[in-house]
Amino acid sequence: KDFRNNVKPNWCPGCGDFSVQAAIQRAAANVGLEPENLAVISGIGCSGRISGYINSYGFHGIHGRCLPIAQGVKMANRDLTVIASGGDGDGFAIGMGHTIHAIRRNVNLTYIVMDNQIYGLTKGQTSPRSASGFKTKSTPQGSIEPAISPMEMALTAGATFVAQSFSTDLKDLTALIEAGIKHDGFSLINVFSPCVTYNKINTYDWFKENLTKLSGIEDYDPANRELAMQTLMKHDGLVTGLIYQNTEQKSYQELINGYSETPLAHADLKLDQVHFDKLAAEFM
Ligand code: SF4
Repeated sequence: KDFRNNVKPNWCPGCGDFSVQAAIQRAAANVGLEPENLAVISGIGCSGRISGYINSYGFHGIHGRCLPIAQGVKMANRDLTVIASGGDGDGFAIGMGHTIHAIRRNVNLTYIVMDNQIYGLTKGQTSPRSASGFKTKSTPQGSIEPAISPMEMALTAGATFVAQSFSTDLKDLTALIEAGIKHDGFSLINVFSPCVTYNKINTYDWFKENLTKLSGIEDYDPANRELAMQTLMKHDGLVTGLIYQNTEQKSYQELINGYSETPLAHADLKLDQVHFDKLAAEFM
């Protein structure tokens, strides 16, 4: 099972996105997928290129819209493992509406955000994840907006799987992606993925100094949503590991009455035409 292809990433040397790519490839192999079982759907931004760098089905969508596409792919073909991915600007600015509704809808797919707290592709402007006071070309006197807290937001929106990682922790990140793929519902994995070219504040060293591993917190229980929220607030969201998982909540597909046994992608199109004509006749 080789999820590598012959496309050479054009990310800057040292970009955190390389590790995310490697972690997705390893996780897919570890859970026993074949390339034809996986679809990687991405948004726009440096991170959005990832769908072209993995040997699987792929779709490089438009800005902020990878989640509607990914949900459509999963609904049409449940046999595919679907991974959606993009940057913090993609998912938490223009795509935030889709992110919140995908979370509460709980369609069975994994959403990986490469969070570098800046817009890299457009050469370094503040993103919704940039801290207040953050100076860029678009905010020369420092951002006057507070940063969004995606993990707290996800818990509030009813997420059933929330995790966070750091791109140098390849082993932990791979394990979290595997767990996200196996989770029966929507899994959100936010990855601190440094932009070495434009973000000179949130560097690898900065994250190493500021991140706390949940595995090192005594009695931390990812089944406890209240504890998850308290821990996030205490550490200003700078934790890594499995933050919260609810295995009781049914996925969107499980809740659909009469959800067909046959994935739409494999349905007999002739029968579908008959069904469509019948439906159309009812409304004429
Ligand atoms: Fe990575 Fe930043 Fe370079 Fe984009 S600009 S490839 S995010 S290091």
